[in-house]
Amino acid sequence: RLDGAHGHVRFDDVSFHYKPGRDILPQFDLDIPAGQTIALVGSTGAGKSTLAKLVSRFYDPSSGAITLDGVDLRELSSEDLRRAIVMVTQEAYLFSGSVADNIALGKPDATIDEIRRAAEAVGAHEFITALPDGYDTDVNKRGGRVSAGQRQLISFARAFLANPAVLILDEATSSLDIPSERLVQEALQTLLADRTAVIIAHRLSTVAIADRVLVMEHGRIVEDGAPSDL
Ligand code: ATP
Ligand code: MG
Repeated sequence: RLDGAHGHVRFDDVSFHYKPGRDILPQFDLDIPAGQTIALVGSTGAGKSTLAKLVSRFYDPSSGAITLDGVDLRELSSEDLRRAIVMVTQEAYLFSGSVADNIALGKPDATIDEIRRAAEAVGAHEFITALPDGYDTDVNKRGGRVSAGQRQLISFARAFLANPAVLILDEATSSLDIPSERLVQEALQTLLADRTAVIIAHRLSTVAIADRVLVMEHGRIVEDGAPSDL
């Protein structure tokens, strides 16, 4: 990894509120060793997306600190932060432009070979080459239509190419047919290798591949263990 980040993430006595007096995360401690895959689950409003946004520094804690490899996120340059921590959300899967542009989003100087290798790694190369203009297909044009599962694979190729030490993923809730589901699941495993990941998980199959499952309720972790313990 160019930036040398390992991906050890720690929440130290973190509180966070959107409105003063109403803590969403009350004094939160969490240690995520480098390389660990966390599945974050819990009912709606529990604070899962808020936690994800704090790690990706969309927000800063109201008090306490979040560190990456011992360094407060607020002390990292925006460039270092962007390189080290990537968040993939359901809404931001694709942008207008070609498939190649969409994959290269996190690494604009990527060569077509690098783009292709990333697509191959997550099993997206095959369907991309079958599109009308291959990697040059405009994803918003007629005939360039890609399915929900294919969108996810493209966003995974993008994250794979960006190669962050820490990946935050808000898993899509849209249901996929079984072959697509299997492809997405395999791609996810490739994407998770050698990095820290926090996945807001909606699928049991994702929870099963995590090293650790955190169940959140009202901003607190009420269960913390291996998938087999739950
Ligand atoms: P879901 O499963 O529905 O996505 P979640 O676990 O991701 O839920 P959050 O989105 O983190 O939950 O919300 C946690 C709490 O913070 C909720 O009470 C929510 O209403 C509140 N909240 C979320 N975003 C904001 C915001 N921008 N301004 C004020 N309150 C917010
Ligand atoms: Mg959410």
